[in-house]
Amino acid sequence: MEPLGTPYGTDPTVDVVIAGGGPVGLMLACELGLAGVTAVVLERAAERPTVARAWGLHARTVETLDRRGLLAGLTEEKAAWPKMPFAGIRPLLELDRIHADHPYLLNVPQTRVEEVLEARARELGVTVLVGHELTGLDQDADGVTAEVATATGSRRIRGRFLVGCDGGRSLVRKLTGIGFPGTDATVGGMLCDCSLPTMARERRGITRTDFGTVNINPRPNGVVRIVTNEFGRPHPDRDAPVTFQEFRSAVRRILGRDLDIENPTFMTRFGDTTRHADRYREGRVLLAGDAAHVHFPYGGLGLNLGLQDAVNLGWKLAGEVDGWAPPGLLDSYGGERHPAAAAVLDYSRTQLALLGPGRNVTALRDLFGRLLEYPEVNRHLAELVTGASTRYVFGDGAPDPVGGFARDMALKTEDGATSLVELLRPGRGLLLDFAGTAPELRDGWASRVRQVRAGSEEPPVDALLLRPDGYVAWASAGRESGPGALEEALTTWFGEP
Ligand SMILES: Cc1cc2nc3c(=O)[nH]c(=O)nc-3n(C[C@H](O)[C@H](O)[C@H](O)COP(=O)(O)OP(=O)(O)OC[C@H]3O[C@@H](n4cnc5c(N)ncnc54)[C@H](O)[C@@H]3O)c2cc1C
Repeated sequence: MEPLGTPYGTDPTVDVVIAGGGPVGLMLACELGLAGVTAVVLERAAERPTVARAWGLHARTVETLDRRGLLAGLTEEKAAWPKMPFAGIRPLLELDRIHADHPYLLNVPQTRVEEVLEARARELGVTVLVGHELTGLDQDADGVTAEVATATGSRRIRGRFLVGCDGGRSLVRKLTGIGFPGTDATVGGMLCDCSLPTMARERRGITRTDFGTVNINPRPNGVVRIVTNEFGRPHPDRDAPVTFQEFRSAVRRILGRDLDIENPTFMTRFGDTTRHADRYREGRVLLAGDAAHVHFPYGGLGLNLGLQDAVNLGWKLAGEVDGWAPPGLLDSYGGERHPAAAAVLDYSRTQLALLGPGRNVTALRDLFGRLLEYPEVNRHLAELVTGASTRYVFGDGAPDPVGGFARDMALKTEDGATSLVELLRPGRGLLLDFAGTAPELRDGWASRVRQVRAGSEEPPVDALLLRPDGYVAWASAGRESGPGALEEALTTWFGEP
């Protein structure tokens, strides 16, 4: 490959071009870099944003980042919240009861997540080009050529695949002709990061009136995030800058009084436009993150959803680039993630419906609150929205635990003490052999799947095959568990030996 820093007009080739260096593009870059695939990230902005839209990583995302060794630098004691609201209803969701390795909301800003991911992507050899805007693309049988504009000119960069991680207004999606059906905004939201000297007297969380909601959230860094949401007042122009006066007026309309807001440091507007790409792939072009799905941001779901897209896609795309991917592997990305996103879009719609005005909604909220007092119901909902119960349907519906996410466990191997999480960090498949009965992997598979004879205090089964994203591909228990079934699972997920 020609060095990417060479003069404009050259046409360097990489395995994968990633359009968009937001969190999802950077996460995908990390996955591809880990798999030894050459990738370039094209980021339109010249500098990384200093203000965060999202705050909060949910349990499944934290588990996933842990399986890549990416939690250092993100976990701080004060940032782990054991509870979170659903549509501002009391009681809160009790995250510390969910079945997950990390049963909490990790309250870190999106900017910090991006910093960590960018540093890791660069460390893994991915080229991240800022100030590089994708302006066009052209795909043929062998690859995709991206037209790129920079401050000093234009250039082309060619990849064998191109992934649009370029956000909700994705140019990649538009140029590829992928449909984006859904519904337009019905509410107008604004957020303001500020200081609130009267915080001690204010009600934390969501206050709902007939006009909208105001959500007051002090952050661990001392800043208070105030978010307004006005029913029936979608913004005519979502890009218009928010003025302090405009924000204060919205608060007054909703609450009927002022808040003593000072020192606004970040203000932006948003809505509840909810749309979902009708497919995640068109030939050699794929979509991930907000490029594939947008929704109302209450509940803090979008960033988490996108990061999971990236981790589902990365190893499959690497398999395609390396030539070992079996037929259908790359399409299983959309097959698995489209339903996962559809469910999240519905959780977001549910929350908006429960925030709406009027007595009927109030009655529904009261009932919902009483239901949430049942620990089972509370946990069930918490596991849905945090992704902790996400599982994929493999084939015609393989039995538990296949399709589920493998929880961490302490392990002993001939190299000493380790854990399932640590063994997944290289981003390869993993055949954990607890009973010493699994057949030795044939050469082709051995390079894609790490086979480890491991001791565990409570082995769940005799042997487990995990995909690089941590989901169980096969287990030596249940309906189809013999060596023939293991070979079939290896072929399905890791190609021919
Ligand atoms: C107000 C608000 C609050 C939110 N709060 C939360 C929350 O608490 N929790 C949560 O999980 N989610 C939250 N979200 C959603 C979350 O911010 C997004 O889901 C997340 O940023 C999506 O990441 P992404 O990488 O897909 O897209 P983006 O973050 O939008 O990144 C896309 C990147 O692509 C670049 N780009 C765009 N076009 C081009 C191009 N043509 N060429 C090159 N680069 C391009 C952009 O500059 C950008 O850097 C919130 C969203 C909003 C609006």
